[in-house]
Amino acid sequence: MFKITAALFEPQRVETLWTRQHNIFLDILRTDLLHPVVSGNKWFKLKYHVEDAFAKHFDTILTFGGCFSNHIVATAFACKQAGLKAIGIIRGELESAQKAHTLQQALSYGMQLYFVTREQFRDKEAIKKEFKNVYPVNEGGYGILGAKGAGEMLTGIADHQRYHHIVMATGTGATMAGIVDRALPYQKITGVSVMKNNRSLDSEMRALLSESSVHKNYEIIHRYHFGGYARKSEDLLLFMNEFYMETKVPTDFVYTAKACYALKEMIVQGDIPGGSRVLFIHTGGLQGNLSLPKSKLIF
Ligand SMILES: *Cc1c(COP(=O)(O)O)cnc(C)c1O
Repeated sequence: MFKITAALFEPQRVETLWTRQHNIFLDILRTDLLHPVVSGNKWFKLKYHVEDAFAKHFDTILTFGGCFSNHIVATAFACKQAGLKAIGIIRGELESAQKAHTLQQALSYGMQLYFVTREQFRDKEAIKKEFKNVYPVNEGGYGILGAKGAGEMLTGIADHQRYHHIVMATGTGATMAGIVDRALPYQKITGVSVMKNNRSLDSEMRALLSESSVHKNYEIIHRYHFGGYARKSEDLLLFMNEFYMETKVPTDFVYTAKACYALKEMIVQGDIPGGSRVLFIHTGGLQGNLSLPKSKLIF
């Protein structure tokens, strides 16, 4: 079990060759320190879903995900902590899933898992109808309530007003939407998409913004997918090791390393001007690295 403490919201100042060369003040919000398995942003996205489920007198949450879904395990955990039952609808085969560390964790937190084919998985409405009296949460915690919770990662930081630029990894866009919603007009928010050609992401992110946030200063960049979701290159792994050596901050190859790599390039190319105070939101996900051969990473 864990508690959200004030210490979690104290960003960590880091320095690298490229922050020094370009005179950038880089702070990292280490939500990866929240828990070894539960991704920081996933927990925040679930907070208001859990509250809403309680308020509406549900005792079970139903949600969806793949075999390696950080959201599934976070839901299992959040429900256990809140005293709710959890059902996970998993896309894919039981056989391959048995190997998935992530799902083992979800089971250990008491989640009930159901495996469906890709085709069945697409029809979420049909699946929901098969379960009575369950509170449904979208895949990845996507939704207004998810974004609302994620925004608290920013507002939890005492002096979050000091940052000029905020950077994070983006999957469904819910986390980013929450951050944009809580950002100030002079802050530039950059989301780094970890998927290839996820063309609907921009509009899905925008759909979660409040009216007054639509014209804030934000952008999603799509060039840092490294081949697609959960794909990687030797170059990315090399970067992860280098970044760890310089900062002692571990990243994961599915999300945070890609965003951090993009951040480095934005700084080196001058897209983030010298003198800027930058906040990088480390969203967690480190257990994703367990699928890599041991020799690849130094941490
Ligand atoms: C799910 C996840 C994201 C993406 O969050 P969205 O709100 O879906 O954009 C980023 N980082 C990590 C570690 C994640 O697990």
